[in-house]
Amino acid sequence: MSESADPRPRLAAIGRLFYERGWMWATAGNLSARADDQSFWITASGLSKGELVIDDFLRIAISSGEVLEGGAGRKPSAETAIHRAIYETQPATQACLHGHSVEAVLASRGRDPVVLPHVEMIKALGVWSDRTPIALPVFANHSDVALIGQAVKNFLSGHPRPVPALIVRDHGVTAWGQTLSEALRHFEAVEFLLALLARGF
Ligand SMILES: [Zn+2]
Repeated sequence: MSESADPRPRLAAIGRLFYERGWMWATAGNLSARADDQSFWITASGLSKGELVIDDFLRIAISSGEVLEGGAGRKPSAETAIHRAIYETQPATQACLHGHSVEAVLASRGRDPVVLPHVEMIKALGVWSDRTPIALPVFANHSDVALIGQAVKNFLSGHPRPVPALIVRDHGVTAWGQTLSEALRHFEAVEFLLALLARGF
Protein backbone atom coordinates (compact mmCIF):
# COMPACT_ATOMS: atom_id res chain seq x y z
CA MET A 1 0.00 0.00 0.00
CA SER A 2 1.43 3.38 -0.91
CA GLU A 3 1.17 6.38 1.39
CA SER A 4 0.24 9.80 0.13
CA ALA A 5 3.20 12.11 -0.43
CA ASP A 6 2.33 14.32 2.53
CA PRO A 7 1.09 12.37 5.59
CA ARG A 8 0.24 15.48 7.66
CA PRO A 9 -3.47 15.79 6.79
CA ARG A 10 -4.04 12.18 7.74
CA LEU A 11 -2.04 12.52 10.95
CA ALA A 12 -4.17 15.55 11.86
CA ALA A 13 -7.32 13.46 11.26
CA ILE A 14 -5.93 10.67 13.46
CA GLY A 15 -5.24 13.30 16.15
CA ARG A 16 -8.91 14.29 16.13
CA LEU A 17 -9.97 10.64 16.29
CA PHE A 18 -7.62 9.82 19.20
CA TYR A 19 -8.61 13.01 21.06
CA GLU A 20 -12.29 12.07 20.77
CA ARG A 21 -11.55 8.58 22.07
CA GLY A 22 -9.78 9.91 25.18
CA TRP A 23 -6.34 8.73 24.12
CA MET A 24 -4.79 12.23 23.85
CA TRP A 25 -6.06 14.36 26.71
CA ALA A 26 -4.54 17.74 27.56
CA THR A 27 -2.13 18.02 24.58
CA ALA A 28 -0.65 14.59 25.43
CA GLY A 29 0.68 12.15 22.86
CA ASN A 30 2.37 12.58 19.50
CA LEU A 31 1.90 11.30 15.97
CA SER A 32 4.52 10.85 13.27
CA ALA A 33 5.01 9.51 9.76
CA ARG A 34 8.11 9.07 7.68
CA ALA A 35 8.77 11.79 5.10
CA ASP A 36 11.70 10.01 3.42
CA ASP A 37 14.55 7.64 4.34
CA GLN A 38 16.19 10.19 6.62
CA SER A 39 13.34 12.17 8.17
CA PHE A 40 9.81 12.09 9.57
CA TRP A 41 6.96 14.52 10.32
CA ILE A 42 5.87 14.78 13.98
CA THR A 43 3.43 16.90 15.97
CA ALA A 44 4.83 20.02 17.63
CA SER A 45 4.89 20.22 21.41
CA GLY A 46 2.04 21.54 23.53
CA LEU A 47 -0.87 21.49 21.07
CA SER A 48 -4.33 20.01 21.48
CA LYS A 49 -4.38 16.92 19.30
CA GLY A 50 -8.06 17.54 18.58
CA GLU A 51 -7.28 20.70 16.59
CA LEU A 52 -4.15 19.92 14.53
CA VAL A 53 -3.47 21.60 11.18
CA ILE A 54 -0.64 21.06 8.68
CA ASP A 55 1.51 23.82 10.22
CA ASP A 56 1.53 21.96 13.54
CA PHE A 57 4.04 19.37 12.28
CA LEU A 58 7.84 19.53 12.10
CA ARG A 59 10.13 17.46 9.91
CA ILE A 60 12.91 15.87 11.99
CA ALA A 61 16.17 14.19 10.94
CA ILE A 62 16.11 10.60 12.19
CA SER A 63 19.82 10.40 12.93
CA SER A 64 20.38 13.77 14.64
CA GLY A 65 16.95 14.92 15.82
CA GLU A 66 17.51 18.24 14.07
CA VAL A 67 14.43 20.19 12.95
CA LEU A 68 14.58 20.37 9.15
CA GLU A 69 11.29 22.05 8.25
CA GLY A 70 7.92 23.29 9.46
CA GLY A 71 6.29 23.90 12.80
CA ALA A 72 6.04 27.71 12.50
CA GLY A 73 8.75 28.19 15.13
CA ARG A 74 7.35 25.61 17.54
CA LYS A 75 9.44 22.97 19.27
CA PRO A 76 9.14 19.28 18.44
CA SER A 77 7.52 17.02 20.98
CA ALA A 78 9.88 16.03 23.81
CA GLU A 79 8.98 12.45 22.96
CA THR A 80 10.52 12.70 19.51
CA ALA A 81 13.38 10.58 20.95
CA ILE A 82 11.08 7.54 21.11
CA HIS A 83 9.95 7.99 17.50
CA ARG A 84 13.56 8.40 16.35
CA ALA A 85 14.54 5.15 18.10
CA ILE A 86 11.79 3.30 16.24
CA TYR A 87 12.51 4.75 12.77
CA GLU A 88 16.23 4.19 13.27
CA THR A 89 15.94 0.51 14.24
CA GLN A 90 12.88 -0.41 12.09
CA PRO A 91 13.66 0.76 8.54
CA ALA A 92 10.33 -0.50 7.17
CA THR A 93 8.33 1.55 9.68
CA GLN A 94 6.35 4.37 8.05
CA ALA A 95 4.36 5.71 11.01
CA CYS A 96 4.41 5.82 14.85
CA LEU A 97 1.44 6.74 17.02
CA HIS A 98 1.71 7.50 20.75
CA GLY A 99 -1.13 8.19 23.18
CA HIS A 100 -1.76 8.56 26.91
CA SER A 101 -4.83 6.49 27.71
CA VAL A 102 -6.27 5.63 31.13
CA GLU A 103 -6.22 1.95 30.12
CA ALA A 104 -2.50 1.98 29.25
CA VAL A 105 -1.65 3.45 32.66
CA LEU A 106 -3.81 0.91 34.51
CA ALA A 107 -2.58 -2.07 32.48
CA SER A 108 1.11 -1.16 32.90
CA ARG A 109 0.85 -1.26 36.71
CA GLY A 110 2.51 -4.37 38.16
CA ARG A 111 3.05 -6.00 34.77
CA ASP A 112 6.38 -6.38 32.98
CA PRO A 113 6.02 -7.38 30.24
CA VAL A 114 2.32 -6.78 29.60
CA VAL A 115 1.00 -10.13 28.37
CA LEU A 116 -1.96 -9.38 26.11
CA PRO A 117 -5.27 -11.24 26.47
CA HIS A 118 -5.45 -14.08 23.99
CA VAL A 119 -8.66 -13.02 22.25
CA GLU A 120 -9.63 -12.55 18.60
CA MET A 121 -8.45 -8.91 18.48
CA ILE A 122 -4.83 -9.99 18.93
CA LYS A 123 -4.82 -11.03 15.25
CA ALA A 124 -4.82 -7.32 14.35
CA LEU A 125 -1.21 -7.20 15.53
CA GLY A 126 -0.23 -9.69 12.83
CA VAL A 127 1.44 -12.00 15.34
CA TRP A 128 -1.32 -14.54 15.98
CA SER A 129 -0.27 -17.85 17.48
CA ASP A 130 -2.43 -20.43 19.22
CA ARG A 131 0.26 -21.19 21.72
CA THR A 132 2.70 -18.34 22.21
CA PRO A 133 1.55 -15.50 24.48
CA ILE A 134 2.00 -12.05 22.95
CA ALA A 135 3.70 -9.61 25.30
CA LEU A 136 4.48 -5.91 25.06
CA PRO A 137 7.77 -4.65 26.52
CA VAL A 138 7.41 -2.13 29.35
CA PHE A 139 9.85 0.76 29.76
CA ALA A 140 10.34 2.93 32.83
CA ASN A 141 9.06 6.49 32.57
CA HIS A 142 11.60 9.32 32.91
CA SER A 143 11.19 13.10 32.85
CA ASP A 144 14.30 13.05 30.64
CA VAL A 145 12.64 11.42 27.61
CA ALA A 146 16.02 10.85 25.95
CA LEU A 147 16.54 8.06 28.51
CA ILE A 148 13.34 6.36 27.36
CA GLY A 149 14.42 6.77 23.73
CA GLN A 150 17.78 5.14 24.48
CA ALA A 151 16.12 2.22 26.30
CA VAL A 152 13.73 1.70 23.37
CA LYS A 153 16.61 1.84 20.90
CA ASN A 154 18.60 -0.71 22.92
CA PHE A 155 15.63 -3.07 23.13
CA LEU A 156 14.69 -2.84 19.44
CA SER A 157 18.30 -3.23 18.35
CA GLY A 158 18.25 -6.64 20.03
CA HIS A 159 14.78 -7.63 18.76
CA PRO A 160 14.70 -7.42 14.95
CA ARG A 161 11.10 -8.67 14.68
CA PRO A 162 9.31 -7.12 17.66
CA VAL A 163 5.59 -6.92 18.37
CA PRO A 164 4.85 -3.50 16.78
CA ALA A 165 4.01 -1.72 20.04
CA LEU A 166 5.44 -0.90 23.46
CA ILE A 167 4.34 0.64 26.75
CA VAL A 168 6.00 3.24 28.93
CA ARG A 169 4.83 2.56 32.50
CA ASP A 170 2.29 5.00 33.98
CA HIS A 171 2.46 6.86 30.67
CA GLY A 172 1.12 5.28 27.46
CA VAL A 173 1.40 3.16 24.32
CA THR A 174 3.44 3.66 21.17
CA ALA A 175 2.53 1.53 18.14
CA TRP A 176 3.96 1.55 14.64
CA GLY A 177 3.47 0.04 11.21
CA GLN A 178 4.68 -0.21 7.64
CA THR A 179 1.83 2.10 6.57
CA LEU A 180 -0.14 4.72 8.48
CA SER A 181 -3.18 2.44 8.25
CA GLU A 182 -1.21 -0.44 9.75
CA ALA A 183 0.09 1.73 12.60
CA LEU A 184 -3.49 2.83 13.29
CA ARG A 185 -4.71 -0.79 13.34
CA HIS A 186 -1.92 -1.80 15.72
CA PHE A 187 -2.59 1.13 18.06
CA GLU A 188 -6.35 0.53 18.18
CA ALA A 189 -5.88 -3.21 18.78
CA VAL A 190 -3.46 -2.62 21.64
CA GLU A 191 -5.80 -0.08 23.26
CA PHE A 192 -8.66 -2.60 22.96
CA LEU A 193 -6.55 -5.34 24.59
CA LEU A 194 -5.30 -3.03 27.37
CA ALA A 195 -8.89 -1.95 28.05
CA LEU A 196 -9.71 -5.61 28.67
CA LEU A 197 -6.80 -5.92 31.13
CA ALA A 198 -7.77 -2.67 32.85
CA ARG A 199 -11.28 -4.11 33.37
CA GLY A 200 -9.91 -7.26 34.98
CA PHE A 201 -9.93 -9.64 32.01
ZN1 LIG B 1 3.90 10.46 26.03
